[in-house]
Amino acid sequence: MFESLSERLSGVFDKLRGRGALNELEVRAAMREVRVALLEADVALPVVKDFVDRATERAVGADVLKSVTPGQQVVKIVNDCLVDTLGGENADIELNVAPPAVVMMVGLQGSGKTTTTAKLAKLLKDKRAKKVMMASLDVNRPAAQEQLKVLGEQVGVATLPIIAGQQPVDIAKRALQAAKLQGFDVLMLDTAGRLHVDQALMAEMKAVSEASQPAETLLVVDALTGQDAVNVAENFGREVPLTGVVLTRMDGDARGGAALSMRFITGKPIKFVGTGEKIDALEPFHPERAAGRILG
Ligand code: GDP
Repeated sequence: MFESLSERLSGVFDKLRGRGALNELEVRAAMREVRVALLEADVALPVVKDFVDRATERAVGADVLKSVTPGQQVVKIVNDCLVDTLGGENADIELNVAPPAVVMMVGLQGSGKTTTTAKLAKLLKDKRAKKVMMASLDVNRPAAQEQLKVLGEQVGVATLPIIAGQQPVDIAKRALQAAKLQGFDVLMLDTAGRLHVDQALMAEMKAVSEASQPAETLLVVDALTGQDAVNVAENFGREVPLTGVVLTRMDGDARGGAALSMRFITGKPIKFVGTGEKIDALEPFHPERAAGRILG
């Protein structure tokens, strides 16, 4: 996670370390290198521009130029700007509604949506002591409902019994009814994946959203797709009221472009990150920790 960006930035800061004083030109030169490092990490251009403008403005301020340890000051400024760009503080999942709190999971096919649904159900059960039910609304892919059932058995989370031929909005209504009657705290709806942002499926998703009134609508996107992940989030965000993003495959993402661009471009917080194929490889996203990781 973030290894290549981390390496690149430590190269920039090594040059500043141990320097007694820095003049404005040197600070600006360092910020230009930070800019290149962010661009190489596939961070979206408007984000890079905003980041470098903010960091430069603060770094050429009198504090750094007068400081006896200017290198450290610059690192601190970059750290603070990274935290802001990553969303400031952890945005937790919001389940404070009359139970069952509906969590609707949306995303492209192959993004890791079904796995993430089960991972999040397990996390809510184990770490937040919630009684969780899952239901698959994916009637397009033949094995999808079965896949969620198997995952549910694996993690010890109930799934709505499958009724062949039932359509997504009706499944959502039945799930809501069952979750209410059986006293579940959380109902997770795994919606149909799609290959791209497609109008028929978007209409279906809106209908499901209206029928189930989710407390959270989480978009699952693959971090490895970089700026595409951000474009997908923008497109989904126009169609459904997303409350947050789950970035999967962060374990394989050495660059971090999607993570760094997401909040600024889409306005949506990253709530969780997927960090591996194992069923417990899902973590709440903490901007300060992620910034700490980037700066080593
Ligand atoms: P869906 O089509 O979006 O429902 O995707 P799936 O949930 O079936 O996941 C597709 C593949 O991605 C599976 O092999 C998952 O194990 C894998 N996957 C999901 N999340 C992660 C992650 O955070 N890291 C890694 N390395 N693999 C993941």
